[in-house]
Amino acid sequence: MDPFLASSIFLFGLAFGSFLNVCIYRLPLGLSVVTPRSACPKCKQPIAFYDNIPVLSWMILGGRCRNCKTKISPRYWMIELLTALLFLACYWHFGLTLSALKYCVLAFLLLGLIFTDAETKLLPDKMTLPGLALGLIFSLLVPVNDLASQFLPGMVNLPFSGDISARLLSLLDSLLGAALGASFIYGAGAIYLRWRGTEGMGFGDVKLMAMVGAFLGMKLTIFTVFTASLAGSMFGLTTVFVVWMKRTHRFMKRLANAQAARRRGWQSAQVVYRNYQMPFGVFLGSMALFAFFFGNQFLHWYGGLW
Ligand SMILES: [Zn+2]
Repeated sequence: MDPFLASSIFLFGLAFGSFLNVCIYRLPLGLSVVTPRSACPKCKQPIAFYDNIPVLSWMILGGRCRNCKTKISPRYWMIELLTALLFLACYWHFGLTLSALKYCVLAFLLLGLIFTDAETKLLPDKMTLPGLALGLIFSLLVPVNDLASQFLPGMVNLPFSGDISARLLSLLDSLLGAALGASFIYGAGAIYLRWRGTEGMGFGDVKLMAMVGAFLGMKLTIFTVFTASLAGSMFGLTTVFVVWMKRTHRFMKRLANAQAARRRGWQSAQVVYRNYQMPFGVFLGSMALFAFFFGNQFLHWYGGLW
């Protein structure tokens, strides 16, 4: 790793993270990400350029607006730092290549979507749809190298030269990944709706996984959906268990009958469970991030077990 390049990429990441903060705040509100200049959400005072330096400004100002002293969420510097670290990780993992650029773009989009979903339970089309298009375009430049590229050349004779057919097969892999990701979530959403009677996954999640599929191909898309479901279920079960314990403890004081308290606590936890809406996009996005660094190693290891 070249230290000068690495630090430039890190600074670049900080700047992109700063822009990502603007996207996370404005896109769910339907506002432009270009104009007007950033302002304090409380006092509307525009933020001067010297107060808009990633991470540093937040620290210098002690996490408060210079004008009205309103607290500024630590989310701002965290996203700036995370973006920079992910950009650096892409460079470290892939070198100064188009692959690194491709995964920087995906990391940027996923981080934005994860935090937007966590805060607003929305996955804006203005992130997912351009993301889907970018994933398809990148497949022509960086081989997705999934099932179609691996098996089709042995089965059919392609009427193009080697390079062109490799690029077309990569695009096919990307399209198949997008279709698979979208239909997985669409199907899971339909089952969930029948089972629980409420909408668990919206079209935002469908588009998110179409985008992830276009970048990662089919195998890693399956990996992402599978691990995200696992992580989501674990999180859901833990939440219900914690609520059950807390409520039981509370009922104990009132009822003085352990069994009745546990039953009342369980009923209470079920109500919470029924009304709880999991931001599933957070899990899908996080697992997609994990998949593009470690998914192939994991699948390789898992294949070795058989
Ligand atoms: Zn202010």
